[in-house]
Amino acid sequence: MLIFEKSRPGRGMDLLPACDVPAVEPAEKDRRKMALHLPEISENDLSRHYTELAKKSHGVNDGFYPLGSCTMKYNPKINNDMADLPGFTEVHPLQPEHTVQGCLEVIRTAEEYLCEITRMDRMTMQPAAGSHGEFTGLLLIKAYHESRGDKNRTKIIVPDSAHGTNPASAAMAGYSVVSVPSGPDGCVDIAKLKEAAGDNIAGLMLTNPNTVGLFDKNILEITEIIHSCGGLNYYDGANLNAVMGMVRPGDMGFDVIHLNLHKTFSTPHGGGGPGSGPVGCKEFLAPFLPSVLVDGKERLSFVRPEQSIGEMKSFYGNFLVVVRALAYMLTLGRDGIREASQNAVLNANYMMHQLKGLYTMAYDEACMHEFVMSLEDLKKKTGAAATDIAKGLLDNGIHPPTMYFPLIVKEALMAEPTETESKETLDRAIEVFCKLYHEAEDDVQRLHDAPVTTPVSRLDEVGAARHPVLRYHFEA
Ligand SMILES: *Cc1c(COP(=O)(O)O)cnc(C)c1O
Repeated sequence: MLIFEKSRPGRGMDLLPACDVPAVEPAEKDRRKMALHLPEISENDLSRHYTELAKKSHGVNDGFYPLGSCTMKYNPKINNDMADLPGFTEVHPLQPEHTVQGCLEVIRTAEEYLCEITRMDRMTMQPAAGSHGEFTGLLLIKAYHESRGDKNRTKIIVPDSAHGTNPASAAMAGYSVVSVPSGPDGCVDIAKLKEAAGDNIAGLMLTNPNTVGLFDKNILEITEIIHSCGGLNYYDGANLNAVMGMVRPGDMGFDVIHLNLHKTFSTPHGGGGPGSGPVGCKEFLAPFLPSVLVDGKERLSFVRPEQSIGEMKSFYGNFLVVVRALAYMLTLGRDGIREASQNAVLNANYMMHQLKGLYTMAYDEACMHEFVMSLEDLKKKTGAAATDIAKGLLDNGIHPPTMYFPLIVKEALMAEPTETESKETLDRAIEVFCKLYHEAEDDVQRLHDAPVTTPVSRLDEVGAARHPVLRYHFEA
């Protein structure tokens, strides 16, 4: 029920005292023609309304949330506390630079640490999301080739195990996309990559670990193949949670990278923002970046490089997300960062190993931070599809894994437990997965009917996508 439907004329809460100064009437032209349509509700009912809404959704604070490729981990509250400090929240982006040196120092320090973690030389915090970072990185690659008069490079290679945003970003940057298939081992097919490489290739976008949760074992050969045809290597680092502190993309031959601070570096997400997708690059690409922080004699200031691709977002990006990321890195330290990714990988492998007896794994190899199951066999045997298991999980207080993605695996369920879950939580989830498997065998109708404990059951997903109702129509 919408808050407007709970509204009753005249109901409300008086928080402000009566006006004790002469009222100033606005000029006729400045006045509203209609009364503002605001809900009228008591404070008590207002409070209950939002609590009710919160109870209807599932977040990391409610329970296990193994949504593959999304890194729905627990974000320590202290990082949020830091982002709540008035020195960070009560500044204005148009303030003179000398009055916000502390904030600029945060951006610079975060840049320094993230460059260290990725082995890049410079970074822009402007992009507001991972996909926005991809677009930015591709514009850097484009500007680089153009600056050398190399205009023949119109294609970007994207392996079929890439995140879906990769080909979309390449197309948006004006490139045509060359898809390279994966071999049966889930890694890029090297022979096919060699065929695709050539002097019309601007670069390669590699999602690593890829969307099936594997670290490409030929990664050095891959970047070498691209470099030797004159292309640049782009690392989709949204899944850095699996590798941070262990290996560095800059050491593996990558020239550009984006990170998802809202996945790996402690900004809660899932509700649609704000996010941050910083883009790091090697020194030779730095002349093309949006405005970068420069250390002047007395102060830090933003300077736009001469050959810059221009600004990618107003001001400095989503600054408070950067504050959380810095607090996260400072609290973990060098060892903690490494331990976080080790535990992310350990948790995923533990869960995969425990489920492997029942569920079919898409790739029977050690995984990184996530693993992909194929429910094709189960569906053939019992009629229970990946959706049915996912809906059954909902009735057990667990958020489903990512479904039907990656596209290269049939009836896929992609689970990413993350490092912040305890063994007890994992064990309980494993138990639930096993219980649902047996339910599929014994009473598949129960699974088809699930979920029965959620506020709504099965939704018309296609209808919602094709005919979204985005507006509320008031009666009067
Ligand atoms: C999440 C993700 C993206 C996209 O990030 P957004 O912030 O959602 O735009 C890109 N690549 C990979 C591998 C991802 O997991």
